[in-house]
Amino acid sequence: VTHCPTGALHGRQDRKRVYPWEKAINNPDIVTVVQVAPAVRAAWGEGLNLSRERATPGRLAAALRRCGFNFVFDTNFGADLTVMEEASEFLKRMTDGQKHRYPMFTSCCPGWVRFLKSQYPDMVDDLSTSKSPQGMQATMTKTYFADKIGVPADKIFSISVMPCLAKKSEIAIPSLNDAGAGQDLDVTLTTREMIAMIRAQNLDVANLPEEPFDSPLGVSTGAGVIFGTTGGVMEAALRTGYYLAAGETPSPDTFKTVCRTEAHPWGEAAYDFAGIPVRTAVVSGLANTRQLIRALRRGEVHYDFVEVMACPGGCVGGGGQPIHDGEELAAIRGRRLHNLDRMANIRFSHENPEIQRLYREFLGEPLSEKAERYLHTDHHQWEMPLSPHLDEDVRIERK
Ligand code: SF4
Repeated sequence: VTHCPTGALHGRQDRKRVYPWEKAINNPDIVTVVQVAPAVRAAWGEGLNLSRERATPGRLAAALRRCGFNFVFDTNFGADLTVMEEASEFLKRMTDGQKHRYPMFTSCCPGWVRFLKSQYPDMVDDLSTSKSPQGMQATMTKTYFADKIGVPADKIFSISVMPCLAKKSEIAIPSLNDAGAGQDLDVTLTTREMIAMIRAQNLDVANLPEEPFDSPLGVSTGAGVIFGTTGGVMEAALRTGYYLAAGETPSPDTFKTVCRTEAHPWGEAAYDFAGIPVRTAVVSGLANTRQLIRALRRGEVHYDFVEVMACPGGCVGGGGQPIHDGEELAAIRGRRLHNLDRMANIRFSHENPEIQRLYREFLGEPLSEKAERYLHTDHHQWEMPLSPHLDEDVRIERK
């Protein structure tokens, strides 16, 4: 597929761009780091003929280590960090005394961000400024982690493995690169490209031992893992948002209702955050998203916080995942991620000990000056060409 305007389905293979990684891995002066997105663990075994029991995150970490990477990190950590910043940003907005015409929209899906910027540019100020999990993780890799291991940022070669094709473009956006050493992420590979890379090593993957991700950017929670499926970002953010607002930890399953979207183009739910009424909606697929945006603009629905994922079902159904002709596996993969969440020892991002340590040692607190500098972005710093087919009510106000 080559005509997706947001890049979410653009069929680009970056085999050539792996070459710098191969050079880096053979260069003793370079430290190589790989991070793996939540949705990748739900699908990687499909391309290697692994049973669900064998295709564990621990075995994936082991396979990547055998490919030669010095450090194998989990983007779930970046997802937990995104929750901390985005939940804090949302609560600040809910208590700032201003009347917001539109809800705050999640911004971790670059396909959606490009859609909004090109189709509804007058709503860009309502996007969360929090970077995506891969963006936050990448900046922390070349700042906090680089300091920890005593290696300059320009001696770290950083790769992400994503279920997504739009993420390949995201890493080149200048306002998302804050570590001061070129791009914070050097290369992004899709799940399919990673599978090809592992295959090329001729590993007996099924019999590799399970190994943990590296620390300090590899410890994560059940909240981080559900980022990979529709409704998961909202659910994870509400878990921590409620804690920040009410000062007490809710049951981790309190916010499940937002995920039930099958009967309607989008799902919705309302909550009470210690006296603050919070109306939420979750949508995936851009046709559904357009319906929701039009309803919001016509004043037919009112929400405070909306999660949008460009791919139907969220990242588990992303354009970089294994393809099975005539079969759609997003829902099955989504259930795998929810199972991993249910089995996790920690299910709240704010309880992640490595996240707590990162704030203690480096960032201070969510939305601090340092957090704003490294973990947030100004969406007005880069522009998308406008769609030639804008809705009639769209106002164009380029800043
Ligand atoms: Fe990429 Fe996920 Fe968005 Fe699809 S839903 S474009 S895979 S970030």
